[in-house]
Amino acid sequence: MARAPDPAFLASRAQLEALDRADELRRFRDQFELPAGVIYLDGNSLGALCRRARERVRETVEREWGEGLIRSWNGADWISMPQRAGDLIARLIGAGAGEVVAADSTTVNLYKALGTALRANPSRRIVLTERSNFPTDLYVASGLAKHDGSAHEVICVEPGEGAIERVLAQRGHEVAVVTLTHVHYTTARIHDMRGITAAAHAAGALVVWDLSHSTGIMPLEVESCGVDFSVGCGYKHLNGGPGAPAFIHVARRFHHLVQPITGWMGDARPFEFLPEHVPAMGISRFLSGTPSVVGLAALEASVEVILEAPMAAIRRKSMALGEAFVALVERHCAGLGLELASPRDASLRGSHLSWRHPDSLAVMQALIARGVIGDCRPPDLLRFGFAPLYLRHVDIADAVMHLADVLRTREWDREEYRARPRVT
Ligand SMILES: *Cc1c(COP(=O)(O)O)cnc(C)c1O
Repeated sequence: MARAPDPAFLASRAQLEALDRADELRRFRDQFELPAGVIYLDGNSLGALCRRARERVRETVEREWGEGLIRSWNGADWISMPQRAGDLIARLIGAGAGEVVAADSTTVNLYKALGTALRANPSRRIVLTERSNFPTDLYVASGLAKHDGSAHEVICVEPGEGAIERVLAQRGHEVAVVTLTHVHYTTARIHDMRGITAAAHAAGALVVWDLSHSTGIMPLEVESCGVDFSVGCGYKHLNGGPGAPAFIHVARRFHHLVQPITGWMGDARPFEFLPEHVPAMGISRFLSGTPSVVGLAALEASVEVILEAPMAAIRRKSMALGEAFVALVERHCAGLGLELASPRDASLRGSHLSWRHPDSLAVMQALIARGVIGDCRPPDLLRFGFAPLYLRHVDIADAVMHLADVLRTREWDREEYRARPRVT
C-alpha cells in the first residue's frame, strides 16, 4: 500500500502538483460538476454530481418519461432498475449478483433487514449495537423492539475496542442480531467486519451491517466475511444525489424469509392484483413499493462511474488525502484549538476526519463562506470528507490554509456564523 507522503514532502505546492500529476485517478475529476471556487469536502454526506448522472437523469425525464410515458416501465425497463442498480452495488460491497436491490431509504432498509433477522432468530431476545451508532439505526432498532410484540431488548454498548465481542462472550446465547455501522459517521473508525461477524455467528447471532459510510470508498467483502444482511446509503460516496435510493443486501441463504414491509413490488406477480401476498423469488421480495425511477437513474449512472476506477486505487488515494490533511493541519493549525477525533492511523478509518473545536459550528460556517465545504456534528466536531475521484492534493492544501487562516484570525467569531441552520 502506498504510504502517505512525508510531511516535509508536502511543503511546496510544486510537490503537491506533482502528486496530482501522478494520480492514477486523475481522469475522473473531469467527470464531475464542481462549482468554481469551491473545495468540496462533504462527499461523505452528499456526493457531488457526476456528468453521467446528470445526462442519465435528463434522458430519463425527457425521453423516457416525457415521451415514453407509462410505456417506459417496459420499454425502458424501469421495472428492473432496483435489481440492476443493486447488481452494480453488489460489486462494490463484494456481494453476489442477485443479493442486492436499490430501493427506499437506509432507514427503511434497516427496518426490513433487522425485522427479517429477528424473525430468523426467534428464540433470542437481544439486539446488540453501540450507543454512538448513527441515530436512525438506534431508533429503528428500538422502534422494532417495541413494536414487534416479542419484547426484544436493545443493548447499546459504549464504543471501544472489543466491546461488542465482550458482550457476545458473556450473553451471546441471548443475542438475536448484532447491528453496527462499519465506518463510524463521526470518527470514521472502522469496525472489524470479519471478526465481529465471526464472533456473532459463533454465538448463534446474525449480523446487520450499515455500510453507509463505506460503500464506494473502500474495498468491502460482505460475502467472504459471511455477512447476513447489510444496508447502505445512495447519496454519500455513491454520489446518487439528494435522497437517492439506498440499498439492502441479503445473503442468498436468507432469500426464503419474508421481510416485514410486504408490498406489491415484492410480490411474485404484482400485476395480477391478487389479494394474497406471495413473495417474489430471490432478492426481489425485499422490495416494497414502486421504484423511484429518477433517483435510480442518477444512482445507476454514478455507480457505473465508480466501478470504472479500481477500488484499491480509490482506497489508496482516500488514505493519502486524509494523511495529507492531518499532516498539514498538524503543521499549520498547531495551537489553534483543534483536536483530532478520528484515528490517527489512516488504515483504521474510512474517508473522513473529525476534529474537535469548541466553536465548530461557527468555524465551519466561516469556512463555507470561503468556499471550503465540510460539515459539523454535535457536540463540537468539524467533519471533512475526502472523495478520491474528484479531489486533488492541492485542494487539501488549500482547504487547510483556509482553515488555518479562519482560526488564526478568528474570522469565525461573528454573529452571522453563530446561527444554526436547519440542516447541518
Ligand atoms: C447517512 C446514514 C443513514 C441515512 O439514513 P436515511 O434513511 O437515508 O436518512 C443511515 N445510517 C447511517 C450510518 C448513515 O451514515
